[in-house]
Amino acid sequence: MTKKIIIIGGGIAGLSTGVYAQINSYDAIIFEKHSKPGGLCTSWHRKGFTFDYCIHNLAGTGNVPLREIWNDLGAFEGTEIINHEVFIQIEDIKGNVLNIYTDLDRLEKHMKEIAPEDSKTIEEYVKAGKSLSGAGFFSMGMDGTLSKLKIAPHVPKIIKWGKITVNEYAEKFKNGFLKRAFPHVQYDMNTSNIPMFPHLLFLSGFYVGDLGWPKGGSLEFSRRIAKKFTDLGGELNQSSKVERIIVEDNRAVGIILADGSEHRADIIVSAADGHETIYDMLDGKYTNETIDKYYQAYEEEQEFGLQVFLGISRDLSHEPHAISLLLDKPVKLELKERDSLYLELFDSSTGVAPEGKSVIKVVTKGNYDYWKKMREEDLENYRNEKEKVYKIVLEILEKRFPGIKEQVEVHDVTTPATVERYTLNFHGWQPWPLPDGGFMSMMRGISKTLPGLQNFYMVGQWSNAMIGISNAALTGRNLIKELCKKDRKKFKTQ
Ligand SMILES: Cc1cc2nc3c(=O)[nH]c(=O)nc-3n(C[C@H](O)[C@H](O)[C@H](O)COP(=O)(O)OP(=O)(O)OC[C@H]3O[C@@H](n4cnc5c(N)ncnc54)[C@H](O)[C@@H]3O)c2cc1C
Repeated sequence: MTKKIIIIGGGIAGLSTGVYAQINSYDAIIFEKHSKPGGLCTSWHRKGFTFDYCIHNLAGTGNVPLREIWNDLGAFEGTEIINHEVFIQIEDIKGNVLNIYTDLDRLEKHMKEIAPEDSKTIEEYVKAGKSLSGAGFFSMGMDGTLSKLKIAPHVPKIIKWGKITVNEYAEKFKNGFLKRAFPHVQYDMNTSNIPMFPHLLFLSGFYVGDLGWPKGGSLEFSRRIAKKFTDLGGELNQSSKVERIIVEDNRAVGIILADGSEHRADIIVSAADGHETIYDMLDGKYTNETIDKYYQAYEEEQEFGLQVFLGISRDLSHEPHAISLLLDKPVKLELKERDSLYLELFDSSTGVAPEGKSVIKVVTKGNYDYWKKMREEDLENYRNEKEKVYKIVLEILEKRFPGIKEQVEVHDVTTPATVERYTLNFHGWQPWPLPDGGFMSMMRGISKTLPGLQNFYMVGQWSNAMIGISNAALTGRNLIKELCKKDRKKFKTQ
């Protein structure tokens, strides 16, 4: 008899679980709260412009093992992958520019031209990026132990580059501009003190031609996977919020929707927010100390938490797609002063802006408590405050793109409260690494199953405390592979 699987949440993890379930002759049914699929991997339309919330760089776009998953999911069908020449351009007011070229030889040459006195450090940096390229870190987990074994020779490098932060590494440069610019190399996350290791992983990805951007953006990407799911016979129920998981004798047997209807299945999978699943849908009855401690350890500020979108009647195709603007004097946005601003630029060739026009997305950190409280207490004030953020950002953009003020056709601002509202992600957050710096989550996850609860699985970013669209898709694939093994079925991918 065909086993029925209920999947809570139609983000990338839920959709991936659904596609692989259908391929492997399970009967999958997804309940998604929102009226569209994709979860965080989303975009929205305003006056002919598409505001793309999510994908900066996607692992698995190149000729790498991970690509197989996107092929299985139909994620690139009918679209093309855009590979950028420059990962990020960091520029100051004096006209100094550091381009992080995705061609690492070009990067080395460019950096040496800026700072010949730093040749040795530059060589070390580029060599480190290249040296990680053979390990297939982004594909880790595809073949279970085998792909993890491939990582083993790289462990000394993981330890070395995990200990030094990007900001600390910047101090190695003698050149004043490189010293100031380097902390901004990874999405301008200079205030987050991130280790060098994840940044080097990006360089290694570019080195093998990976980490592109699917034309059309995040929602189109998600919709193609949703289409694959329904084409395979899967049932996708949108605007269907799950309130509770029905448990009988410590076995998950079904779910109750917000409209009160009950749905039963052989297996229940949550691809939704971890906190909501564990503490609301299951009343916190199936947890342990590690899980509890994890959810208590969230930070106030969130990377990418505050975003400003502008649809403008101006062609920006001659500009790099990502810029970190080093400001001449700090500006206060919401609670904190910032000395730089990260922009992503989308011209019409990306498929998100009309011909001759462009979208600018400005991304910075956001404070959940600040926005959430304001929204709850005074919606008008919340809206005014978002408008204030937009106006400050626009003044900065006017200096970089004179005349832009007159060219804005539409704008929008999102905060962590927006993300929480639309995806129910805890505090609008994405997972933060486990105390071991992420190694444990990479190896075995945190809540793929819950203590004492049978018939129940978690997939997605909260199941292994790791962000990433490819990570989300992988967790879905791996769960179905595991179920096939239990059911003595050969796991199929087509
Ligand atoms: C701004 C931003 C930029 C990012 N950029 C990148 C990038 O460039 N590359 C990359 O690889 N990753 C990126 N990420 C990370 C990546 O987007 C996420 O890690 C990934 O999309 C998570 O997918 P998921 O399916 O696990 O979770 P989600 O996307 O959160 O999906 C969960 C789904 O469950 C639904 N849901 C929740 N509760 C319920 C309920 N009670 N009933 C029914 N449905 C429910 C939600 O509506 C949602 O659709 C970015 C994330 C953000 C926020």
